[in-house]
Amino acid sequence: MKIDFSNTEVAFQLKSNFQLRKAKLLFMSVSSPAIVRFLQKVVSFCFNIGLPIKPIIKATVFEHFCGGETIAECTTKIAAMYSKNVHSLLDYSVEGKVNDADFDGTKNTVIESIKYASSNPGIPFAVFKPSGVGSNHLYDKVSAKKELTPEEKEAWQRVRSRYFEIAQSAFDHKLKLMIDAEEVSTQQAVDDLVTELMEKYNQESCIVFNTAQMYRWDRLQHIKDSVALAHQNNYYYGIKIVRGAYMEKERMWAKKYGYKDPIQPNKAACDADYDAAVTFLLENVNNKVSVVVATHNAPSCQLVDSLMEKHSLKANDPRVYVAQLYAMSDNISFNMANAGHNVVKYLPFGPVKDVMPYLFRRAEENTAMKGQTSRELELIKQELRRRRKA
Ligand SMILES: Cc1cc2nc3c(=O)[nH]c(=O)nc-3n(C[C@H](O)[C@H](O)[C@H](O)COP(=O)(O)OP(=O)(O)OC[C@H]3O[C@@H](n4cnc5c(N)ncnc54)[C@H](O)[C@@H]3O)c2cc1C
Repeated sequence: MKIDFSNTEVAFQLKSNFQLRKAKLLFMSVSSPAIVRFLQKVVSFCFNIGLPIKPIIKATVFEHFCGGETIAECTTKIAAMYSKNVHSLLDYSVEGKVNDADFDGTKNTVIESIKYASSNPGIPFAVFKPSGVGSNHLYDKVSAKKELTPEEKEAWQRVRSRYFEIAQSAFDHKLKLMIDAEEVSTQQAVDDLVTELMEKYNQESCIVFNTAQMYRWDRLQHIKDSVALAHQNNYYYGIKIVRGAYMEKERMWAKKYGYKDPIQPNKAACDADYDAAVTFLLENVNNKVSVVVATHNAPSCQLVDSLMEKHSLKANDPRVYVAQLYAMSDNISFNMANAGHNVVKYLPFGPVKDVMPYLFRRAEENTAMKGQTSRELELIKQELRRRRKA
């Protein structure tokens, strides 16, 4: 079946005219990297000198891209999306924390989100970022198999305990858990730890999901090896596939420190591996594999639909989800949901000030990712025109 991703009536069915006009203004103001950099400086400055800008931010950019400051504040948006068959995932989006108290705080919030989700059918997954529960310095050293100092060994044990505590909670509450992927230098340690979690918690069903960034040229083989390992050791394998969010940084580091660039030579190679991973994983759904296809790329989502039909999988097979970010690519999310697919949107939440780095990163990614902002803007304009005519 061909899914019509240009159907903006379905895409924006939950947005009022006022919300759409506000979104149009927002996307217009983040359409240039220079403006984003300027706004970032102004906002940081205002927060630093204590100017009361929080209400303005909360009513505009935060309201558009986030669920709320607390889990409770996210409830209305979760219920509204669920009424249209679109699920949510509570993403505690506080970034840049570096000490044990913060890491424990994040772990506790993720566990709180798991408990909350377990009684809300609109939330099938929990998620956390590796850097939210441990320092990149440690992940780097463990990934590179470097000798840890006694203090670092203790700190690494605390990181491991946080992973196991979160996964145990997800297991106890029968909720699926995704672990995001970040910089390549940190990933081996995360992969090893998540494999341990899968061995422990994915015996009966798929609870724990790792993430693979397909802009890395080594990930397609890595996925195949991981599926083989799961079969060999008889546990369920869960994976979220993304293209990857740190391309410029990875390329820059590879050049600066003189190692082989971990990123694909070009976008076409990245797309080819992404779609090859979708194809391979959907072929293996009946072999204890579950997959979350996390992307704003319409052809990749269309591929999911076509392959599920080819393999006689029901559109809402619980082993297959597509995922987008809240307030992004609603034309994909709501039209996929309308066609019966399992769709989940990352719904960021956290205190306004602490979520600002996430929001600016998102804005930077959108401007860096040529086309995404203008695509969103064009869809919003299209829907406003349609409503005027109607
Ligand atoms: C629900 C969700 C969860 C996510 N979780 C993570 C995560 O855990 N970790 C993470 O890193 N990212 C994550 N992302 C971001 C993701 O990796 C992409 O940056 C983003 O989704 C854009 O890729 P796309 O598939 O949506 O679309 P597209 O617009 O088709 O692809 C853009 C992407 O293609 C790749 N690309 C662009 N140009 C080139 C080039 N010249 N050579 C090689 N590759 C190129 C880059 O990855 C770029 O981001 C997530 C995205 C979503 C929607």
